[in-house]
Amino acid sequence: MQIMVQKKNLKILRILSALLCMLLCVPALFSPIPADAKEPDPKESVVVVLDPGHGGASEGAAYNGIFEKDIDLSVALMTGYYLSQFEGVTVYLTRTGDYEVPLEDRPQFARSVDADFFYSIHFNASDSHDFYGSEVWVSAFGEYYTAGYQFAKILLANMSSELGIYSRGCKTRLNSKGTDYYGVIRLCTSYGISSCIIEHCHIDNRYDFDNYISPELLQEMAYQDAISIAMYFGLTSHALGLDFSDYTRVPCETPVCHKPDATPPDFALVAPVSADASAKTATVVINSLDSNSSIKYFSYSLDQGATWSELIKYSGGPTVVTLQLRSQNDTITIAAYNQYDKCTISNTIDPIP
Ligand SMILES: [Zn+2]
Repeated sequence: MQIMVQKKNLKILRILSALLCMLLCVPALFSPIPADAKEPDPKESVVVVLDPGHGGASEGAAYNGIFEKDIDLSVALMTGYYLSQFEGVTVYLTRTGDYEVPLEDRPQFARSVDADFFYSIHFNASDSHDFYGSEVWVSAFGEYYTAGYQFAKILLANMSSELGIYSRGCKTRLNSKGTDYYGVIRLCTSYGISSCIIEHCHIDNRYDFDNYISPELLQEMAYQDAISIAMYFGLTSHALGLDFSDYTRVPCETPVCHKPDATPPDFALVAPVSADASAKTATVVINSLDSNSSIKYFSYSLDQGATWSELIKYSGGPTVVTLQLRSQNDTITIAAYNQYDKCTISNTIDPIP
């Protein structure tokens, strides 16, 4: 039956629900500043809007009984909790429960509170279920690209170094009119607010699901979100013992429009190095480059493209790999994927002639 949920996932949901209840008991952390409080000079307090994706009937991605809308909300709540422990920051959420919020209301809310940055919190899924890793979508335009890129660099580095989540990079996407594809980013840019969409990892991929979709790791992700936002703004937290006031963002040229990569990798090649016929292994050198974006994975086929291996982390350039063959008649073909998931297929070699 469809309603069957794995025991492990029920446990995750129960713990998440408990965490949500705990965090919802402290709504003051995320509420507007009380009316009697003196509103500080906006330049003295950073205003951050966290936007948990989806909600209500909009479930987002779903896998193994986990709905994206639920983990979007729990990560956003926990991020808000951690971020509120820094000085000089006011945090708002666009939703704090399981209900629908129209897409255009989210950036409008950010404008109403004079937000400095709008972070849309999401988890990813792909049609093939093959892709894994995290990515950050940003505006393609001018200073909004620069702000998004500089934040994305911090977050993706932290998620990779602290949690081991594979970085798929900072990306842009345009619609047919040549403006930002994602509505929340497009509207934020039109309101003069920096924004990004954080896709923390792929919930429909076995590797990401098994390693990261647990209460502990979701909490870790939220902590990295908060730390990264604090680093970007150079915030200090006495409560957490953290001081990012000296942090310098990576330099980034401000483009007129940073176009997404619309083409697959420039080439993909495979060449034999050596083979062990008795062990049925082949050592080959693979090579691929993309002049417009970066290479992120390769997969290989032993049957001339009829079936393919799972995606293997690969950052492009000449790389020696040893592959296990199934028979001495196997051929080897490589498929290289860029960060926009576009793929180029190599020549085919006969590793044990
Ligand atoms: Zn989503």
